[in-house]
Amino acid sequence: MISTDFGDVIAERMRAEHRTLATRWFERLLELLPVEARAVFPSDSLLDHIPALILEISAYLRNPEDEAIVANTAILAKARELGALRHSQRASLHQVLREYQVLGGILVTFVLEEMERLGAMPPASESVVVVSRLNQAVNVLSQATVETFVTLYMQTIAEQKERLEEFTRIAAHEWRQPLGALQFAVRLMRHPDLDRTHADRTWAAVERNVQHLVDLTQKLEAIARMHGSGDNAVVQKVSVTAIVQEVARQMREMADARGVEIRIAEDLPTLIVDVGRHELLLVNLLSNAVKYSDQAKTERYAAVSRADAPEGGCQIAVSDNGVGIPAHALTVIFHRFTRAHVDREDLSHIAGIGLGLAIADDCVRALGGRIDVRSVEGEGTTFLVTLPNAPQRV
Ligand code: ADP
Repeated sequence: MISTDFGDVIAERMRAEHRTLATRWFERLLELLPVEARAVFPSDSLLDHIPALILEISAYLRNPEDEAIVANTAILAKARELGALRHSQRASLHQVLREYQVLGGILVTFVLEEMERLGAMPPASESVVVVSRLNQAVNVLSQATVETFVTLYMQTIAEQKERLEEFTRIAAHEWRQPLGALQFAVRLMRHPDLDRTHADRTWAAVERNVQHLVDLTQKLEAIARMHGSGDNAVVQKVSVTAIVQEVARQMREMADARGVEIRIAEDLPTLIVDVGRHELLLVNLLSNAVKYSDQAKTERYAAVSRADAPEGGCQIAVSDNGVGIPAHALTVIFHRFTRAHVDREDLSHIAGIGLGLAIADDCVRALGGRIDVRSVEGEGTTFLVTLPNAPQRV
């Protein structure tokens, strides 16, 4: 039997079935994305947003006031939160719109199924009203999501522009110093009275400064590559062990020269992640663990191990028993061109430009995570990488 108000019947059925409908939506999402719902909605409260939206749409079907859903701040706030979440996960605008399109499709299919289940046809005008109200509700919610998504996207672009300008300024400044030293050395070389000792010293300065410029250029290239890869990043299922082994292979010679053993835990997770950025992150952390090893210790190590994040994400620790970082420098070492041991004579031979950790920080942010450091001078350092959202544990 069809009720006189078809909208009420559907609204009631949708309310009863809102969790089943949310599951259908997740399943369709799975077909569109190479991740599980848990990876997109990392907490129970966010996972619960979808059934809540459906519940609200069902209430809207019943409510005769057209403006009801637009004025429902609680549900619009949830839709906006979804926009912020999908932005933090670097989803594309196309993807977000598609997700709502899928939701709309599922709800309309549900209406058709219900009509069949009831075994009678409502008047055409009533079914048109129900479907158009459904579409309107989905549109209002998707608009709220997209608005937040786009606002954050614009903010990110503005921040990136600002960072790029600052970076260009600092990079030019960093180039000037070794270039100035080289210019000076070239002038000295031309000097007719230059004796052997001074010539040797000048050549050593040339070598040092050229090496510095080579390192600087390599790091700048790494940064440009990282920012350039943007949305075209290769996201795939990969074992962190495989990435670490590859990084350790690249670093073998340097580690052997400093007598550092690279230890790789056997239980590192498998993630769906941007492989290039993950590798760049580990290259920078592991090479520091090797570079800043403590030559006064008989046993020296750099280790990569796994820890579980309290929020359900995963943590990877890169630790060493090296020279450690002075406490006063811990808050600034992630800034570009910052070095923590410049005033230590015994460590002045360690080459570096202070970009590695800034790159590592950029990588972790791009992966949607966070990096923390703990260090005790003379004992060692641990960098803890937390990847809370996008990566999927499999
Ligand atoms: P770079 O190594 O080129 O100087 P980074 O940005 O990689 O630049 O590191 C910044 C500074 O942080 C380093 O100069 C060093 O003083 C300190 N640092 C980084 N990693 C470690 C570590 N594992 N142990 C001790 N000090 C470290």
